[in-house]
Amino acid sequence: MTHDPAWWPPRRDFLVAALALPTAVVLAGRRVAAQSRPRAPTPSCVEKGQATPPQTAGPFFKPRSPRRASLLEPGMAGTRVVVAGAVLSTDCRPIPGALVDFWQADDRGEYDNAGFRLRGHQFTDELGRYRLETIVPGLYPGRTRHFHVRVQAPNQPVLTTQLYFPDEPGNRSDWIFRPELVMAVRDEAGAKAAAFDFVLVVLAPKPTG
Ligand code: FE
Repeated sequence: MTHDPAWWPPRRDFLVAALALPTAVVLAGRRVAAQSRPRAPTPSCVEKGQATPPQTAGPFFKPRSPRRASLLEPGMAGTRVVVAGAVLSTDCRPIPGALVDFWQADDRGEYDNAGFRLRGHQFTDELGRYRLETIVPGLYPGRTRHFHVRVQAPNQPVLTTQLYFPDEPGNRSDWIFRPELVMAVRDEAGAKAAAFDFVLVVLAPKPTG
């Protein structure tokens, strides 16, 4: 049995403070290059200093998602996809114990707002890695295909962003879309394997007293 770390969920006053940060200034943009080769034990950080850009959470975020690395359920329709990568700091160090909280539409483009279907959080391992088993999200009007995700290093501000698929026709017309947030995706025997590394600005702790 595993438990969420003591810092998660953060105290409300910390959350409010984190949300008040000028995240657009603190978090600039970056994407890791496409990776069809096996991942090195410690991920590379090729564009040093550039953080993953933030994006809107949209209207469908729900706090306190279940802790789970697979969102698959029996009978769930949709193309299987494994999304994997690392959470790194802007100085290219892996961040163990970082929260990675995904939520997404189902195969028909619908969110579960009553329960927690296709919602789940996990924490990165000792090498800063995460791995999610899920389905390719369906399309809904006005948006290209995307995952929503919140990423948070221990006791640090929350990065809210979205991940996109390459070669998706809707990428050209979706004004929220950003090319820095496109995953490296390859087909694997009827399923897909997607890779994305999140890069976070890690703030120094405030002096106390
Ligand atoms: Fe959405």
